Amino acid sequence: MSRIQATATEVSRPPEKAMPTRSPTGMEFKTFDTAQQPKGSGTVVVGRSTVWTMSTDDLCPCGSGKAYDDCCGPLLATEELASTAEQLMRSRYTAYFYGNREHLWRTWHPRTRPAEVTVDPSTTWTALRILDVRDGGPDDDTGVVEFVASYDGGELRERSRFAKRGGRWFYLDEES
Ligand SMILES: [Zn+2]
Repeated sequence: MSRIQATATEVSRPPEKAMPTRSPTGMEFKTFDTAQQPKGSGTVVVGRSTVWTMSTDDLCPCGSGKAYDDCCGPLLATEELASTAEQLMRSRYTAYFYGNREHLWRTWHPRTRPAEVTVDPSTTWTALRILDVRDGGPDDDTGVVEFVASYDGGELRERSRFAKRGGRWFYLDEES
């Protein structure tokens, strides 16, 4: 989820119908008057009066056990670059988790990426397990990461190939 902060420009109105209390990704879901909008990182203004808050303590969806802001968060926010293939792989899982197509597109190798990345909004990703990592370290130019990504109703197992280009890691394709 982007940590971009936007400022609501219109006076908020009461919602027309009852709002859910949880977002689809399980983040806390609150409604504020524009005047009461909380400031600080982790605040995402979604609608005119709807704010999703993520505490910096929230665990990263990639299952690293680290806080989102110490893990995939800075990568999805384009504040940092992945230093290893595994880091990039984890951030791409997290991007699928949040439906962040921009991150998926910009981390896909220009040689193999589609014109547009599509994300199926009906897929709920539930867990990531890294099974094997070959190369892909800070001093490598290529790497392979094997993983199982689980979703409601199934799992996806893949050995993904990664390549560095201009000092950045990119997802290349599935190892055949
Ligand atoms: Zn992560």
